[in-house]
Amino acid sequence: MKITVVCEHNLSMDSEEGKKAYPEGMAECIAAFLRKAGNDVTLVRIDGEGASALTDEIIENTEVMFWWGHWYHDAVADDIVQKVVDRAHRGMGMVFLHSAHKSKPFMRLTGAPGTLKWREDGEHERLWCVDMTHPIARGLGEYIDIPQEEMYGEPFGIPAPDELVYIGWFRGGEVLRGGCVFRRGSGKFFYFNPGHETYPTYKIPAVQKLLVQAAEYVAPQVPVLDGLDCPHVESYSVKD
Ligand code: ZN
Repeated sequence: MKITVVCEHNLSMDSEEGKKAYPEGMAECIAAFLRKAGNDVTLVRIDGEGASALTDEIIENTEVMFWWGHWYHDAVADDIVQKVVDRAHRGMGMVFLHSAHKSKPFMRLTGAPGTLKWREDGEHERLWCVDMTHPIARGLGEYIDIPQEEMYGEPFGIPAPDELVYIGWFRGGEVLRGGCVFRRGSGKFFYFNPGHETYPTYKIPAVQKLLVQAAEYVAPQVPVLDGLDCPHVESYSVKD
């Protein structure tokens, strides 16, 4: 599968905690486990200059796009966002990670603000599976423990998910719809809350397996559509 991982690089990743969590870089960690699962992965960086390396050619050759952003959501140019959202509507799958709940493509695709509560103090998160039959949760059991994570809590400003797979619970008492599938147009996308850049969440084997299965689930099952035109027809009535 052709996967593009669009991942921000920010100063927090260069901090002592960030480097300890991901000495190789968080984007490289995500790319590595997706490659290990047999995928063809392209990495694209978001920084203060936006996501200028996300070219039309890359977008149009992507079957599933991962998106991790936080500090530089607004730096991503609207015309790039439009192209990504357009392809997602035509059938490209997407996986939005952690703080991508406030990214432009996520808010455009959900039509909602993506607001939530947060507290950054490295609490234990237990992700409870609420649909054990779901392909994304295959073989992962009743729950996944994440030793340290940023707390994200309800109310989460999203429309009701089309498929709710995980609810995250935090030691502070909060909960979040943390593993949600949405369907828009001909495409599907998945939101997954864990993955703050200073905790090594994406090194946890169960999280890696879940995200590989999420990519498989949202991947297009038929070729991505060429366009979204509404064909004009004269009439379907019988002519004599
Ligand atoms: Zn975070």
